[in-house]
Parts: sequence; C-alpha cells; structure tokens
Amino acid sequence: MSAVLAAVLEDERPWRQFICRACGYVYDEKEGDPDGGLAPGTRYEDIPDDWACPLCGVSKQDFDPYAGPSSGPVSARAVSQVPSVSRARKGVVIVGGGHAGWSVARALRAKDPDVPITLIAGDAADVYPKPALSLAFGHGKSANDLIASFGADVADDLSVRLVPHAFAIAIDAARRRIRTTRGAFDYDALVLAMGARPIEAKTMPADLCWRINALDTWTKLHAVLARGPARVAVIGAGLVGCELADDLAHAGHAVTVLDPGARPLAAWASAQESQRLLDGWNRLGVRFMPSSAIASVQRRSIGARAVTVLHCDDGTFVDADVVIAAIGLSIDARLARSAGLLVDSGIAVDATTLATSVPAIYAAGDCVSIDGRPCRFIEPIARQAQAIAAAILEQPFEATTFKAPLVRLKTRSAPMTLTGRP
Ligand code: FE
Repeated sequence: MSAVLAAVLEDERPWRQFICRACGYVYDEKEGDPDGGLAPGTRYEDIPDDWACPLCGVSKQDFDPYAGPSSGPVSARAVSQVPSVSRARKGVVIVGGGHAGWSVARALRAKDPDVPITLIAGDAADVYPKPALSLAFGHGKSANDLIASFGADVADDLSVRLVPHAFAIAIDAARRRIRTTRGAFDYDALVLAMGARPIEAKTMPADLCWRINALDTWTKLHAVLARGPARVAVIGAGLVGCELADDLAHAGHAVTVLDPGARPLAAWASAQESQRLLDGWNRLGVRFMPSSAIASVQRRSIGARAVTVLHCDDGTFVDADVVIAAIGLSIDARLARSAGLLVDSGIAVDATTLATSVPAIYAAGDCVSIDGRPCRFIEPIARQAQAIAAAILEQPFEATTFKAPLVRLKTRSAPMTLTGRP
C-alpha cells in the first residue's frame, strides 16, 4: 500500500472526541486546538506530551474518550418534579450547581448507585465549562454554544433530585437540616459548593461596572457587546482581567486594562512572562495602564451619547462604553456562619478530606480555603470530589497531600500554565 493511500484510509477513520477529566473541556480531533498549536485534524495520539488543556492546564493523559452529551431537549418535567427519597436514608445534600457541585454528585453516584443525592442550585444548574467564558468572545461563541448539557438531564442521568432556582438560607447543623427558598431538606451529609462571587467596591458601582463570574452575567454582557465594536475598560490585571481583556480584543473591541501594579499578573507570573503578555497585547492593540488606582467611575452624557468615565487617583481618566471590574472574588459567608463553620478567606477545610470544622459538612470548589488561603481553580475540583465522596461513603481513599494546582492562563496572545500559589 502506498503511503498516500494509507494516509487517505487513515483520514476515513471517524473523528473522535476526548473530555478533560479535570474541567470538562472536549477536545475534538476534527477541530484541533489551533490556539494551542494543534491544527484541525490532529489525532489524539499525535498530540504532543507537552500540550496543555486550553482551559485548565492538565496534560493529554488526563483526557478520556467522550461519546457526547446524553442530553435531549429540555422539557417542563425538570423544574417542578422533585422525586421523594426514602425516609430511612436522608442522603447527601449538595449546595451549588456549578462544576464543583456536579463533580461531587458524579463522584458519589459512581461509588454508590443508591445513596440519595439532592442538589440545590440558584439557577438551572446547566453544565458549562466556566473557564471557556474567557475564550468565548474571541471564538464567536454564544451561551448556547457553551452549555454542554442541561441540569435537568444530568440530574436524570445521575438519579439526583435537582432543586433548581433555590437559595439556601440557613443550616441547622445539630438537626442536620438545611432551609432553602424551596423548602427544608434533611441530610446525613452536606456538601457546600456554592462558589465565590466578585468583590464589590464603592468606587466601582454595580450599575456601571460589569462583574463576570458565571454564564448568566456573561450572556448579558455578550448581548451588549454584540451591538458592535466597543471601547472596553477592564479594571484589574489578574487572571480573569487579563483573560477577558485578551479575549475581547480578539473579538475586535478596543481594550484598556488598568491595574494598581506595575505589570499585569504581578502576583502570578515572572516579569518575563508579564512582558510576553504585554508584547502580545501590543500587537493586539490592548493598552495597559499601570499604577492606576480607581478613584471613581461615573456616567457622563457627551452629546446624545452616554459614556462611562474612569477617574484614577493621579488625575488621569479613561472614557469607555463598557467597564468590567475584575478585582477578585470573595465568598458569601452567611450560610456557612449559620452552621457555625470556621470561615477565613473561605470555608476552612482539611486539605485531604475537605471536611469543614463541623461534623458531616464538607466543602469544595471556589468557596473553600486551605491553610487560610482560598483555592479558586478548576483543576483540583475533581480530586476534591473524589475525596469527599469517599469520606461520606466511608470508603477507602488514597489521600493525596495538597498540591499547588495548575492554572491555565487563557490569553491567546501569550498562553501560559502557572501554579495556583503565587
Ligand atoms: Fe481541562
């Protein structure tokens, strides 16, 4: 057989997909990963070992073959039907319908087909890879493109009682009961996975400054920016600010990044890496304004047009059509405090078991703190979910000591993989 014929036959193999075990990113051989140097048509076996998942930074060894979502069309059944569970075993209640919450549900179900699982979510608990929000503008994606499966369908698949659009109000740890806006639920074990929320600041009013940390606000910003090229000011040159700035510039917007520090990613990357990003931004037309402390953000009418003006401490100002504040995350500690949990920069958990300071309550994902420091990255969540499921089901688990998590900086101008302990 000639080499050419062999190549043609090779090409007739169907394209396959592989899913990242850490973050849920799906690698499609047909599409490749052009940003990561993999041309369309790159077979899984031809991916070099130093390639990193574009969303979370793990290697190709952390991918499994993927057969596609099992989700069908959404039906009305989901929202109102809440199947009852046996009285004898109250089971596990999970608070949070994001990646951490669903990861714990999956890990529990994989280990025990019968344990009752209830998942309480503030939204519909649709499954989407959150890191993809940092690449979606530049790739022309919409919210529908990002949703991998609907929460109701995942709940069906996993036999999870999903309580969507419900907010947890208080925990009675002595009675093992959690009160929500859709009723109270008893539990044998409780897992808090409600994430973190963007920090508010008086100088950056919420009605003038976007804060992007979830698909719902991203979708609203997407609608505003779909009107055409805009002048976008991003406050904060940390991981999220840099990713959003880069992505919006790739989507054709004129982006200015303001940060009180001397360089972007000052807390995360070496001076050389920051410079690599700045070089990329130069080519892309992103303006970086160092040493910029925001004094105020105000709306001004210039003729018929409303413009948002950012004033810095040193008297400089920037006009923008859209302002995004990316100054960090913090947790809403009220629920945790109602249960008497130890809270510092997050819900304090044991690094190996993810147990909180109160028996039968665990925490995972963006809401936890380990050794007094928050751990808001996607890569450790799969391990956390396995540890929690094993602890709750009293199954043996090979404890791994806490490692600095991998962090993938999704700036197409200068992609880099960092460790999550600056
Ligand atoms: Fe990944």
